Amino acid sequence: MRKIELNARRQSKAIWVGSVTIGGGAPIIVQSMTNTDTRDVMSTINQIKELEEVDCELVRVAVPDMEAARAIGEIKRGISIPLVADIHFDYRLALAALEAGCDCLRLNPGNIDEPKKVSAVARAAKERGVPIRIGLNAGSMPKKVNPEMSVAERMVEAALEQIRLLESLDFDLIKVSLKAFDVPTTIEAYRSIAEKVPYPLHIGITEAGLPRTGIIRSAVGIGTLLYMGIGDTIRVSLTTHPREEVIAGYEILKSLDLRQHGPVLVSCPTCGRTEVDLFRLAEEVADRLAVIKKPIKVAVMGCVVNGPGEAKDADIGIACGKGRGVLFRKGEKLRTIEEKDFVRALMAEVERL
Ligand code: SF4
Repeated sequence: MRKIELNARRQSKAIWVGSVTIGGGAPIIVQSMTNTDTRDVMSTINQIKELEEVDCELVRVAVPDMEAARAIGEIKRGISIPLVADIHFDYRLALAALEAGCDCLRLNPGNIDEPKKVSAVARAAKERGVPIRIGLNAGSMPKKVNPEMSVAERMVEAALEQIRLLESLDFDLIKVSLKAFDVPTTIEAYRSIAEKVPYPLHIGITEAGLPRTGIIRSAVGIGTLLYMGIGDTIRVSLTTHPREEVIAGYEILKSLDLRQHGPVLVSCPTCGRTEVDLFRLAEEVADRLAVIKKPIKVAVMGCVVNGPGEAKDADIGIACGKGRGVLFRKGEKLRTIEEKDFVRALMAEVERL
């Protein structure tokens, strides 16, 4: 088995979902999925606008019936990012979503695998230059796949079967995902498919759960894959407002230095030396930084002994003592400030950068 070098990004074929490039060395795209009723056009548009505000780059909507498929046209007119139609069970919904102008389809080979139906969708997608994501989920696998195989092998096998079918129709605008809740299974599946096909990969851990645990599970799974060089677009699946998925997605990419996106806040865990309410201060600074787009590093540290040293690569920071703090830039002291001025002075320096 060919070993994928750590950090060397896997070469993948580029595809275009509307105006967004996925794969081919393009930046790793952060996407999410609405949880509104797609038939409720206004609510769906409003939620997508909320996602756009946190820089979501691609959005998927569920298409459970014809009314939802037809709503896509109107939704598209109210939003600025490309839209993926999520199709299960009925291939006619995919045809209707294409008709309505979706920018990409997601098909689940676990519930649409009849060659005749997949072919009809592929032909219509090809005419419009619309890519198809072959989206396998461990929880909804095609029944005919060999039950002796591991879950990861079965996902890979099912994906390959549908990829071969699309390729036989001269369709190559393909993106693949193989998601499980189990992180090692997910990693095994992606590692295997990454070696077998040239297509871009959409990575994620499915149904990862509530934010507290789901973000960790997703970060471990997605982060490991990205560190292996695998992944062209990510979706963090969380049981909460999808805005949080986008924010978590960027945090994962920032942690690996794969993308820059707004400020990074460094704050110490506090210890016996801390003489200030650092939890509150860090929360307040985080809230103020949430609206800043500049890719800067800000540090909020609990003591003057280690603070500036520990955060010396921060663009701007504060090391707090009793009632007073030292403002620093790149580890160098700027001046001493009073506790009541901490947030104001820090933010003034952030603005000045
Ligand atoms: S920066 Fe200072 S207060 Fe914060 S954990 Fe380190 S030593 Fe403790």
